[in-house]
Amino acid sequence: YADLAMYKAKEKGRNNYQFFTCAMSQEIVTKSLLENDLRKALGKGELEVYYQPQLDVKTNKIVATEALLRWHHPERGFISPVEFIPLAEETGLISSIGKWVLEEACRQTKHWRNQGHDLGVSVNLSSFQLISNNVVDMIQGILVQQELDPHHLTLEVTESMAITNLTDTLDKLKQLQDFGVNIALDDFGTGYSSLSYLSTLPINTVKIDKSFIDDITNKTKKEIVKSVSNIAHSLGLKVVAEGVEDAHQVQLIQSFGIEMIQGYYISKPIPKEELEANFLKD
Ligand code: C2E
Ligand code: MG
Ligand code: MG
Ligand code: MG
Repeated sequence: YADLAMYKAKEKGRNNYQFFTCAMSQEIVTKSLLENDLRKALGKGELEVYYQPQLDVKTNKIVATEALLRWHHPERGFISPVEFIPLAEETGLISSIGKWVLEEACRQTKHWRNQGHDLGVSVNLSSFQLISNNVVDMIQGILVQQELDPHHLTLEVTESMAITNLTDTLDKLKQLQDFGVNIALDDFGTGYSSLSYLSTLPINTVKIDKSFIDDITNKTKKEIVKSVSNIAHSLGLKVVAEGVEDAHQVQLIQSFGIEMIQGYYISKPIPKEELEANFLKD
């Protein structure tokens, strides 16, 4: 592993001497081992899509799920997407992994719809996927192949990714929207959080970040959530509250006219079998 650390140091430039502490080289080793494992994870069936239900506040019905990727590592056990998605992005593996998540989520949702459950599905789209040239064709292809009506798919994007190469991104999102796919702005409030994005980006839905919902009893945060949802509604957008954990939050959210809630208060993200057993029995 010392060789590997030296190699990584050389990669950074010939005359650039780098001193590796134990912790630094350890980190590099761990990362390259993980990278190697991630390369094989899809083929070995270690990746699984979990589903977190989204509740329509007015009808009190589960109307959609968010597909969230899980990696069951044979030795390390569960590895969080917060850790391996960035790794997948760095290595380019995100294109094959992201495509697989889309296929899986669309196939599963079509299956549930065939069984008579009126469900949509939300899938997170990485900025690395969005900048790829064939992303629009790829998504349309999956919808056609899985025979899922585009209106039942929502793609979740973040503000930061929406503004990198703005014209190109806007164009692709617009093409997807014209095809019938819904676009949701994820984690709203954590990034640049310019309210003007709500009117300039081609989006249908705003997801207010968990950090605002956590502190919703705080007077300032409460006013922010209320104002953001008022502006979103006046622009014809739907609002989802993320990370809802208790009844008091639900009560406030309801009073602001927010349409949908997602969070541990309803359910954690769960395997498809568990979603069927807990939410699709009737
Ligand atoms: P996200 O898209 O904002 O997803 C919501 C995250 O909040 C999920 O974490 C979910 O488990 C968590 N969450 C939901 N409700 C609650 C709650 O009430 N309390 C708490 N404490 N947490 C809650 P998760 O599954 O760990 O995913 C983290 C992030 O990883 C996602 O954030 C998304 O950015 C990314 N991610 C996950 N799956 C995929 C994927 O298939 N593709 C891409 N590109 N990114 C993904
Ligand atoms: Mg999301
Ligand atoms: Mg989010
Ligand atoms: Mg997030």
